[in-house]
Amino acid sequence: MALHRHPNNPTLCIPGSAVQRLLELWQCPFHGPAQTSQQSHPVHPWQRSPKAPGALAASGQCQPLWGRTFPKSRLPLLAQLQPCPAASRPAALVCVAGGSAGMSLELTFLGTGSAFPCPARGAAALLLRRDGHCWLFDCGEGTQTQLMRSHLRAARITKIFITHLHGDHIFGLPGLLCTLSLQSSPDASKAPVDIYGPLGLRSFLWRSLELSHSQLLFPYAVHELVPTRDQCPPEEFRDFSGLDRGEALPQAPPGRVLHLDPGEDSYLLLEDEQLVVRAFRLFHRVPSFGFVLQEKPRPGKLNVQKLKDLGVPPGPLYGQLKRGAAVVLESGATVTPGDVLGAPVPGRKVCVLGDCSGPVGLAAERLCRGADVLVHEATLEDGLQELARERGHSTPGTAARFARSCRARRLVLTHFSQRYRPAGHGTDLGQLRRQAEALLDGQEVTLAEDFMTIEVPLKQ
Ligand SMILES: [Zn+2]
Repeated sequence: MALHRHPNNPTLCIPGSAVQRLLELWQCPFHGPAQTSQQSHPVHPWQRSPKAPGALAASGQCQPLWGRTFPKSRLPLLAQLQPCPAASRPAALVCVAGGSAGMSLELTFLGTGSAFPCPARGAAALLLRRDGHCWLFDCGEGTQTQLMRSHLRAARITKIFITHLHGDHIFGLPGLLCTLSLQSSPDASKAPVDIYGPLGLRSFLWRSLELSHSQLLFPYAVHELVPTRDQCPPEEFRDFSGLDRGEALPQAPPGRVLHLDPGEDSYLLLEDEQLVVRAFRLFHRVPSFGFVLQEKPRPGKLNVQKLKDLGVPPGPLYGQLKRGAAVVLESGATVTPGDVLGAPVPGRKVCVLGDCSGPVGLAAERLCRGADVLVHEATLEDGLQELARERGHSTPGTAARFARSCRARRLVLTHFSQRYRPAGHGTDLGQLRRQAEALLDGQEVTLAEDFMTIEVPLKQ
């Protein structure tokens, strides 16, 4: 099965003829044939794959395929798959991307609708998977069932980031945590699940768990971001600083209270040798935040010819140099990493913005500059811009202008009003994509769908 590269999209796409073949194979008995569009290739979500090896098969079980990204090498396997007679899911997207060696980084949308969950779109939730760790961004009502319907495992979630305290972003959180608790065993040595979100989140969780007589068997810590008053209309601002004063949280250290770093105009959430995560301020009906995950640069490639010329024998010394340590050869000569390593390789950057009609301060644009993936809400179409602004929301135009100002490589729109339906299910959402693309000089814009997965390849 041949592949071609879409002129405006670094993702490898399945050619139209092959898509047609896939659609013939995988008509959904529930929804009929999936729709195709210029940039998306919906195929059937569930397949039975008794023979196909690897990620496409698991002992003959049905596997959710929608939204998965497959390396080019896997493409022939798709043709071996058979439709699952029990399929009852809406069709969704499969993008076929080039293979990526090394640490994977994927975003899976679990809910892409605003206000409330409905069968076509769940409430806000996004799962980021990196190096086996799962981080959840927002947790609208129904997120746990969306997780069960996906190929992801909720038990892998180690960090949760909440953009703001509107119900369609947090009502799923107490329930999800309780279910995770049911599935876990008490283990005091376990690292806590870190939960980051606006001031007031700790009290919301504590009261929900307390009043429902729920106890979590695993430790968790809620780290609260203190917003500034200019993040929402003055009449909407609530000071939650006294909410849980004097009350202790069960099973958990209370977590940190994070204040805006005035120099950086942002909040430092976490940093290790591989990455840094910061939050920045957004304007909404209630204080809202965006999060940016920035990987640190990786060491450049070893220059094998130089290594040979300097007399470094192949083996562990190569590894030491790659890790940044100088080595001493038997001859007594010292070789430093700078002698044999190429230029550092930039890390990837993923930005997830909460509901907003725009940023507060200048940090958002600076922190999101050059983002590999920018996830931005576009609740309403451009024609409803006034209404969107009144409600503290964005349109595709708002999102595209922000993406353009920070030169994001890929803009993904999400958080659509429930008046819009996924492709082939009523109101055309394509107009939102076209409105954003019109401001981005032909750069392709992605409309998020529930269960869509986007892979962020390593830079070379
Ligand atoms: Zn909101």
